[in-house]
Amino acid sequence: MTTVIPSLQLPTEPEITCSTCAACCCQLEVMLITDTGVPERFIDTDDWGGEVMLRLDDGWCAALDRDTMMCTIYDRRPLICREFEMGAPECIAEREGIATAYL
Ligand code: SF4
Ligand code: SF4
Repeated sequence: MTTVIPSLQLPTEPEITCSTCAACCCQLEVMLITDTGVPERFIDTDDWGGEVMLRLDDGWCAALDRDTMMCTIYDRRPLICREFEMGAPECIAEREGIATAYL
């Protein structure tokens, strides 16, 4: 005999949202491919002369508020940040790569 477990009793996957995330994607290298008005003090130059978001010694983007883990230049954030999709495979991979942030 087969026992059917009602779907409502099955464990659900934890919801993936930026509000429960340690801004994992803000440790990635972010190239500036369009001008969105990022302040100069947050801009660095990579080994090939391209403009990237400056990252500090802790690995996170210089524009990230370390207390709130929110972007301080949200309205002027780079195009790549705008296109990074919450819940997409890249997002999930970044969250898994920094799992210790949730311990
Ligand atoms: S997009 Fe994904 S990795 Fe980036 S802050 Fe949101 S949940 Fe975290
Ligand atoms: S500009 Fe903002 S959204 Fe983009 S990596 Fe830096 S802190 Fe994150």
